Amino acid sequence: MIYLDYAANHPSEEAVLQRFCEAERALIGNANSSHPAGEASREEMERITASIASLMGAENAEVIYTSGATESNNMAIKGIARARRHLGRHIISTPLEHASVSASLTYLQEQGYEIDLLDIGRDGRVDLEHLKDLLREDTVLLAVTAVDSELGTIQPLEGIKEILKSFPNCALHVDATQAIGRVPVAFSGLDTLSLAPHKFGGLNGSGLLLKKRGLVLEPLLHGGVSTSLYRGGTPTVSLAASVETALRLAIENREDHVQKVTELSNELKNALSAYPKVRINSPSDAVPHILNLSVDGVKGTRFQSALADHGVCVSVKSACSSDGTPSRAVFAVSRDRRNALSSWRISLSYRTTEEEAREFLQIFDTCYYELTDRK
Ligand code: PLP
Repeated sequence: MIYLDYAANHPSEEAVLQRFCEAERALIGNANSSHPAGEASREEMERITASIASLMGAENAEVIYTSGATESNNMAIKGIARARRHLGRHIISTPLEHASVSASLTYLQEQGYEIDLLDIGRDGRVDLEHLKDLLREDTVLLAVTAVDSELGTIQPLEGIKEILKSFPNCALHVDATQAIGRVPVAFSGLDTLSLAPHKFGGLNGSGLLLKKRGLVLEPLLHGGVSTSLYRGGTPTVSLAASVETALRLAIENREDHVQKVTELSNELKNALSAYPKVRINSPSDAVPHILNLSVDGVKGTRFQSALADHGVCVSVKSACSSDGTPSRAVFAVSRDRRNALSSWRISLSYRTTEEEAREFLQIFDTCYYELTDRK
């Protein structure tokens, strides 16, 4: 098998698994309990939270543990919209968002909120002039991905933050799920930020929402005392420990890993571009981990399944979106529905080897001639 779908799920790092197991074995108490076992768990939880906060440039009280980025995005978007409904019901987002953002927005639309999507340039970036045009006094939220999962475009967050300074009622939510370990990410200047460690060597079922101190949002989950007022449930000490290790490793190793992945990605791009029917959809300055392409006249799902028959794992749109419809992100950069229907994604890790890349190219060659000659 050749696994080239690391943006959908990245294997856990050994150190993360070890840290999880050690904490799970050693810390038997509920961090809410007032006895020595509970105190030990609580103290460890506080140490972990302080470390996560410092890695992200946040304060301890700004860290909320969740089950993944889907929960974090839902919590931030619905929570901010509800808490600010007295200020307005206008929300701005982008056509590049993951389903956990776009479906939360559709849900709010059904509740009477008005949603506008930003125009995307050919470079995959949001149009900042369009943002200025769309912003209104009653705009309560802008939800934007830092790096989108289909094209890997890096969005101009600094420019966005600058524009929002004139709109104090508008909170900024950033989905940083595909950005951690790929580009530098800091919480400063943002209102909420989501991430999911299973995208960078952490465990499935863990996630974070950073929420600026003082920002009010309505919780999704109500329940007993936890590490945050905003999400009930027994504190998950061992999962939190695994998040801290995964985050630290991703940040510490980012530059080395990006360099390795850039070399591989350039090799793949050069080789694939030589095929006359191949169109690379990812912008040239996208993160190197994500390479979106189309083979003209062949549906993305068709190419993906041909590759899968040879043991190659790639994806069409993001793993969580529904099948059979053209990619909104690829349509946004190419303005070409047929091309968007033909698109699929290779996603790389520092773990991807030269041999895997070479073998993939051989299999790609076979599939390309099988699928394009028949037409
Ligand atoms: N946001 C982005 C950009 C993603 O790529 C994903 C996963 O594909 C998610 C959110 C959802 O993450 P999770 O599966 O952890 O809920």
